[in-house]
Amino acid sequence: MMRLPKFDYRTPRTIAEAAKVMADVGPDAQFVAGGTDLYPNMKRRQMTPRTVISVMRLAELNRVEGDGKSGLTIGASVLLADICEHPIILRDYPVIAQAARTISTPILRNMGTIGGNLLLDTRCNYYDQNYEWRKAINFCLKKDGDVCWVAPGSSKCWAVQSSDLVPVMVAIGAKFRLVSTLSERMIDAAAFYNDDGIDYLQKRPDELLVDILLPPTNGWRASYQKLRRRGAFDFPVLGVAAWVSLDRAGTVSDARLVLGAIAPSPVQVKEAEATLIGQQFDEEHIQAAAEACYNKARPLDNTDFVMNWRKQMTREYTLRALHELS
Ligand SMILES: Cc1cc2nc3c(=O)[nH]c(=O)nc-3n(C[C@H](O)[C@H](O)[C@H](O)COP(=O)(O)OP(=O)(O)OC[C@H]3O[C@@H](n4cnc5c(N)ncnc54)[C@H](O)[C@@H]3O)c2cc1C
Ligand code: SF4
Repeated sequence: MMRLPKFDYRTPRTIAEAAKVMADVGPDAQFVAGGTDLYPNMKRRQMTPRTVISVMRLAELNRVEGDGKSGLTIGASVLLADICEHPIILRDYPVIAQAARTISTPILRNMGTIGGNLLLDTRCNYYDQNYEWRKAINFCLKKDGDVCWVAPGSSKCWAVQSSDLVPVMVAIGAKFRLVSTLSERMIDAAAFYNDDGIDYLQKRPDELLVDILLPPTNGWRASYQKLRRRGAFDFPVLGVAAWVSLDRAGTVSDARLVLGAIAPSPVQVKEAEATLIGQQFDEEHIQAAAEACYNKARPLDNTDFVMNWRKQMTREYTLRALHELS
């Protein structure tokens, strides 16, 4: 049985207190929400913070405010289970509930939060293993080793961004609010993820994710389609988020297509968007967009399923997402 290492557990009640504890303890501290990603990582000795600071008692991180007209603010500690059932999210941003419902299992959705999901560690078959397994292959670049077993000549880690909500947030144009003792800032979801499996976030370790701001809906529609082995629960090995805005004549005035779970960061396919924008939202242009997504997808051999088949599925899942919107 894998055991957690020893650590101090802190439960601040305000954002200011949480930021101060983090600043005082320094790099040995890490925030935790539901712990469904952090605690397994600690058991595998991939992350070993000496102090763990819970964000679950920070009232500001537990609220949902606004609606599709004004824009919606979702606190980082809102549970995935609540995201799935929230009446405003279901009415105005159903794509978020649609994606959240596919995350892990009901039990884990009762623990896991939206913030933890957006900050999920990148995943790889050579990394998501216990300490002894990783030691037997002399570890890898991402933690304790000096070679990447997926691309041995590479100086970069290709571990995969595997959150279901990340491609959706990029597609709908969400923003994240980050707070520390040093600063408060907003960052676009589209600019938040680095194409690097080790340094995967544009976030300093001391920054607390406070909330997620969704833009007003203004008539746009969005869909998320997920490929995984088991329908009951599994991480995505491909996720396609599609977002379109149509004018009255049925012409696409704007579009975003974002692929998840095929690279260290979500991949926005501008070529596919260009095939849709300014055109009728019809089968010919949907097929062209799906082809562009297929051409752009470069999955690697470090998750479930054969990579060439995952590439083929990019076309199919883009079609599914766009057909749902048409
Ligand atoms: C069996 C299993 C199946 C899973 N399946 C899926 C799946 O299908 N799809 C999917 O997307 N995920 C999946 N997950 C991953 C995980 O359960 C979810 O992503 C969940 O939403 C993580 O949220 P959490 O609150 O538990 O995160 P935590 O584990 O608490 O935190 C995750 C990371 O975010 C940091 N963090 C958390 N909150 C904050 C904050 N407010 N500010 C700053 N840093 C913060 C933590 O330090 C940590 O690095 C699965 C996990 C398991 C164990
Ligand atoms: S992609 Fe390479 S360096 Fe990154 S976790 Fe996998 S094996 Fe390790």
